[in-house]
Amino acid sequence: MAVADFRATDDIVALRARYRAFMEEHVYPNEPALDREDDDADALVARLRAAAKEQGLWAPHMPPEAGGSSGSFLVYAHLNEEIGRSIWGQLVFGCQAPDAGNAEILWMFGTDEQKERWLQPLVAGEVRSFFSMTEPEVPGSDPTTLRTRAVRDGGEWVIDGHKWFSSGAEGAAFGIVMAVTDPDADPHLRATQIVVPADTPGVEVVRAIPTMGHRGRGWTTHCEVRYTGVRVPVENALGEEGDGFRIAQKRLGPGRIHHVMRWLGQMQRAFELMCSYALERESFGGPLADKQTVQNWIADSAAEIQACRLMTLDAAHKIDQGDEARVEVSLIKFYAARSLHDVIDRAVQVHGARGLTDETPLAGMLAMARGARIYDGPDEVHRMVVARRILKSFAAGDGWRFD
Ligand SMILES: Cc1cc2nc3c(=O)[nH]c(=O)nc-3n(C[C@H](O)[C@H](O)[C@H](O)COP(=O)(O)OP(=O)(O)OC[C@H]3O[C@@H](n4cnc5c(N)ncnc54)[C@H](O)[C@@H]3O)c2cc1C
Repeated sequence: MAVADFRATDDIVALRARYRAFMEEHVYPNEPALDREDDDADALVARLRAAAKEQGLWAPHMPPEAGGSSGSFLVYAHLNEEIGRSIWGQLVFGCQAPDAGNAEILWMFGTDEQKERWLQPLVAGEVRSFFSMTEPEVPGSDPTTLRTRAVRDGGEWVIDGHKWFSSGAEGAAFGIVMAVTDPDADPHLRATQIVVPADTPGVEVVRAIPTMGHRGRGWTTHCEVRYTGVRVPVENALGEEGDGFRIAQKRLGPGRIHHVMRWLGQMQRAFELMCSYALERESFGGPLADKQTVQNWIADSAAEIQACRLMTLDAAHKIDQGDEARVEVSLIKFYAARSLHDVIDRAVQVHGARGLTDETPLAGMLAMARGARIYDGPDEVHRMVVARRILKSFAAGDGWRFD
């Protein structure tokens, strides 16, 4: 009898230990310098990336034939329990969002020319990219309402539109733009994804939108972008015309689980800080660790983290087996986003005022965690996806099996 086993094998444990050692030696001690997001921080990132490449730890989300070092979702999930602990880990190891998702769709749907021109430098870390789908005027939750248009004119697409939250657009070499190419088609066949070099005339990065008081720089920005009469060759379309939603689904599924994997690292780091501080800090005659409320926070957090781990590993294993794991990915996206927020928030509370300072990474982690409940689909939409699928199965008389 075959039993699915997604625990770490000895090989994964050994590889994970190498990532942990790298994080301890190179990333955690440099976090204050990286957080400054200045020229020195950029130079430091470049040095750390070179070191990661030298040690064979580069781009673990991509298979070796695409320039990476692994490519298995399950292995990547285990590694992210280390990489995800610092927000800088993904950048240092060359597996940062949104480039990781863009690389995956270029790898899956790109032509040989597109792979050579866009994918290779992207995976090599020579350039960055952005994914430009969400628009300020229409609900990002329902991308069938997108307004950005791409009209064919001879051998070119002419793109006009207005996007925002194009993360990392500042300083990126190219974007993948979701544009309506046939407004009269079935809603899910209306759009196409088109690769647009950032220096094409008519592409304007209007501003980096400050979010929760943080403007960001380069990779950490969320940009408003205008496309005015932007002309690119028709060959820049990914897949066939009208494939935009199909490819978005291929991109967002893995992208979502990549986020969740990193959150496992964030949650575990917050949890460790919470437990250590609870033992150390004394009030009302004894350590915080003796107060039942704090014990409840620790127990609830332990349960939520383990639930998130197991759900993530299960979804990663299913994706590795060729399953789209739509329900599993939506389940873990909304459940883990809430858990991430709650675990970090409890850790902040245990630290009192210190939790809001830069003496611990918790305040920065909490600010990042809030967005998790919105990007790549708000919690409410993922709940809707899960409930609809389950109810459809019940309506068909099949019930629902937890496998
Ligand atoms: C940090 C961050 C980074 C991002 N990066 C990118 C990026 O790189 N590229 C990109 O294209 N986009 C990006 N986004 C945008 C993101 O994908 C959208 O914000 C998201 O899809 C939600 O769209 P919206 O903001 O337009 O909210 P809306 O769709 O307007 O929804 C507003 C609220 O309505 C509620 N709601 C919506 N639908 C339902 C429903 N069916 N049932 C109940 N309630 C509902 C939800 O509470 C939701 O939060 C990013 C967002 C954030 C926060």
